[in-house]
Amino acid sequence: MKLSSGLMLFLYSALAVTASAQPSPPSPTGKAASPTGAAAKAAPPKGTTAKAAAPSPGKQAVKPPAKKPPPPEPAAYEVLFTFDDGPRYETTPKVLDTLDQYGVKSVFFVNGVRFMGKGKGPERARELLRETVRRGHLIGNHTVHHFFLCGKRGPTIAEREITENASLIQEAIGKPPDLFRTPFGSRCASLSETLKRLNIHPIGWDVDPQDWKLQDADRIYEFMTNALRNLRRPRSILLFHDIHQSTVDMLPRLLKWIAEENAQRKAAKRPPIQIIDYNYLLATNPPGAAAPSGPG
Ligand SMILES: [Zn+2]
Repeated sequence: MKLSSGLMLFLYSALAVTASAQPSPPSPTGKAASPTGAAAKAAPPKGTTAKAAAPSPGKQAVKPPAKKPPPPEPAAYEVLFTFDDGPRYETTPKVLDTLDQYGVKSVFFVNGVRFMGKGKGPERARELLRETVRRGHLIGNHTVHHFFLCGKRGPTIAEREITENASLIQEAIGKPPDLFRTPFGSRCASLSETLKRLNIHPIGWDVDPQDWKLQDADRIYEFMTNALRNLRRPRSILLFHDIHQSTVDMLPRLLKWIAEENAQRKAAKRPPIQIIDYNYLLATNPPGAAAPSGPG
């Protein structure tokens, strides 16, 4: 339990590397280097002269604190691929094919609105979920409608949105989802309370190219290669949306780049970018955590 809350905090504190933020990832401490840091403080305050600020005779000049050496590099920079907001028949199968080609296992956080109800469309989408599971991926809960759960209606709708989606997933693939991700990554006291009651530990992300906003394979690729080249965390969750053609087009290029980058790193004896699967998340989340906890 403690571990899980710690993980949750870690994951949430990690909503950092986004396309709107500066392209370089945060420093390992999570704090951006500030121009108003130690150097600025060492300078004489405005209005004082250099003479006044100089150390008086007999007093030792204060040495600036020694720079901390950078933390040692991990054995590998681990990354987990995740895809939200699907399934979509026009794009998700192509994502599955590409992931197969590179042997990548990922998590698909899905919205029930795309596969609930009767008719050919929803049945085809449910079959797509089953196919996703057959290919070794995990289906995660992302609520039925992708509503913002921290607005005025949040406390009223959050629990229903989560538990109904868990039921829809169970109906489609025969088992409840083990993982949950909040739409928009939103957080607030009422949602935290709901999630706690349902025994759910939400999964966040660390690298977000905002592919839904860019809608441009080149720009998503550029953002991602830059972010992966400069990873500082030993383990990062990558956020994509399998419902956009630009993401579908970008994905094989990115996986090819990772393979090439790793060949270079091997030659230079540097830690590789290692694509990992979701098992470490399951180990720290109780089974069925993203499913309704009560009867029904
Ligand atoms: Zn989403």
